[in-house]
Amino acid sequence: MNTERKIIIIPGDGIGKEVTNEAVKVIEHINHSSCDVVNYEYFNRDADFYLEHGYILKDSDIKSLTDGVDGILFGAIGDPRIPNMEHGRELLLKLRQSLDLYVNFRPIRAVSNCYSPLKENRVEGADMVIFRENTQGLYTQVGGSVAGVDGTQAAMDTAYYSTHSVDRIIREAFEWAVANDRRRVDLVDKANAVTNIGQLWRTRFRKISKEFNHIETGEHYIDAYCQRMVSDPRSIDVVVSSNLFGDILGDLGAGVVGGLGITPSANINPQSGIALFEPVHGSAPDIAGKGIANPVASLYSLALLYDHLRLDKWGKRITAAVDEYLQMASSHKTPDLGGEAGTSDVTEQIISLIDVS
Ligand code: ATP
Ligand code: MG
Repeated sequence: MNTERKIIIIPGDGIGKEVTNEAVKVIEHINHSSCDVVNYEYFNRDADFYLEHGYILKDSDIKSLTDGVDGILFGAIGDPRIPNMEHGRELLLKLRQSLDLYVNFRPIRAVSNCYSPLKENRVEGADMVIFRENTQGLYTQVGGSVAGVDGTQAAMDTAYYSTHSVDRIIREAFEWAVANDRRRVDLVDKANAVTNIGQLWRTRFRKISKEFNHIETGEHYIDAYCQRMVSDPRSIDVVVSSNLFGDILGDLGAGVVGGLGITPSANINPQSGIALFEPVHGSAPDIAGKGIANPVASLYSLALLYDHLRLDKWGKRITAAVDEYLQMASSHKTPDLGGEAGTSDVTEQIISLIDVS
């Protein structure tokens, strides 16, 4: 029986375009080898579009990105010509807010020890999953310039959390832990210094955790937890954290297992079913156009997208192929992983490893 799904692809800027192009090769390969067809349409908004038109995403665009759409594959956004990522904020933050993609899901696995800056006995088998709150906290653009109490100009950004938002991300972390046979969920915050928000998160975490009493829990401060993520990443299981701390922990975790080039992420609204998948890395202007960007993070993101499309057979097969590829000798790798291969060489090898039987 044929299954058809529809996705939107937003390549964005820089290496975002290059790595999504590689993901499309994998989609095409699966479309041609099986009855599970993923149809895709491009939404080509990038820095050039923004510079020409003065906007990148209108409210009226949102409908075309969601009507009849089962998922979005995103590349990266960012361009040195546009200060402060104005267009990136407009695009990504608007998508996150208007689609209410409140779960930022970042699985971090040490597939091979050899890409980690840590000694291999410290990272082997590390398998952490970060649930970052994706809509509130310090990322709501509430604040501005104010008169400082000392008479100098000051600036202020306000962190804001509602019980509703805190509850739903915490619940998602626990539910995912149960569904995936995980043992433990840690809350990471800075409740000793940022006390109001800290108390809200801790109170709700304790309350919700009671519904999942076979899952162990921990409450940790972000500073000590960063230290632990580096010194003992294998001790970390599922983590739930705020928008800011989740962002930082996600990149730190990526660094621990081998870098931004291999780490995927998903932005999900579990209720509406709308989700956007993207590598953790940005547009990397320093290597854009050179054909050396590592497509692995985008291909792992694609695997998460197939899972989301309820085509998890392909999600598993893409993940298995990328895992196997990462265990190959470094000469098959892009320069960020110590090799000399180009972007499309990597995809070619991974495609040859995808089981299409
Ligand atoms: P942006 O402003 O879009 O976030 P950035 O300058 O912060 O871009 P990132 O993409 O976040 O750059 O990555 C930081 C550095 O890591 C890049 O400059 C690049 O050298 C390296 N890097 C990131 N992603 C990849 C990748 N897929 N392949 C190879 N190197 C990468
Ligand atoms: Mg960046």
